Amino acid sequence: MSFIVAIDGPAGSGKGTITKLLAQKLNLLTMDTGAMYRCVTLYLLKNNINIEETEKVELALKDINIDMKEIAGVQNFFLNNKNVSNDIRTKEVDSFVSQVSHIVCVRNAMVNLQRKLAEGKQMIMEGRDIGTNVFPNADVKIYLDASAEERAKRRLKQNLEKGIDNISYEKILENVKFRDNNDKTSNVAPLKKAEDAILIDSTGMTIDEVVNKIEKIVIKNM
Ligand code: C5P
Repeated sequence: MSFIVAIDGPAGSGKGTITKLLAQKLNLLTMDTGAMYRCVTLYLLKNNINIEETEKVELALKDINIDMKEIAGVQNFFLNNKNVSNDIRTKEVDSFVSQVSHIVCVRNAMVNLQRKLAEGKQMIMEGRDIGTNVFPNADVKIYLDASAEERAKRRLKQNLEKGIDNISYEKILENVKFRDNNDKTSNVAPLKKAEDAILIDSTGMTIDEVVNKIEKIVIKNM
């Protein structure tokens, strides 16, 4: 039987880290839906497809195959069978992904793929619209938030850990604010808390505190 935990929230709210730890503790699968929009963005950039030309984007979607596989406990993403887990985290992809995710045909394709991949699974899905759109009947809905400054600091730390050291704090903060604005004001699936989602503001909370808080909520609903 399927069991879906939706964790939505803005860029850098800690969804990725929290999802991973929670999944290990509760033995659930995970899905990073942001990574899927990043895969599409990477494909469009690599193939010089202008994102304003929606018809071309729609055609390109037919050639895009996205898959995820866990390798040594880390979720890896494959774009047409090539492991692109690092390539989807570049500054270039960062700057275009929000726009790409607001193209209706991209959104529809990703939402369908997400529903298909989650079918019958017990899974934590992290994204922006899981509780509002992808799985409005999710068993547990969390909306994870934190201040923009705190989120930029976290993204910087994450980048450094991955060996990405050419993006400054200021640039990341600017990007976080730009994406927030883009994500919240979009006509297509804007980022917002589902009415029945539980809001957790993680500013000033440790990772463990957030994980423990959500773990208790999930267990109550299992
Ligand atoms: O989570 P991450 O920052 O990697 O997501 C990249 C982008 O993908 C977000 O800025 C957002 O525009 C988009 N996204 C989305 N819907 C989701 C997940 C991500 O629109 N469910």
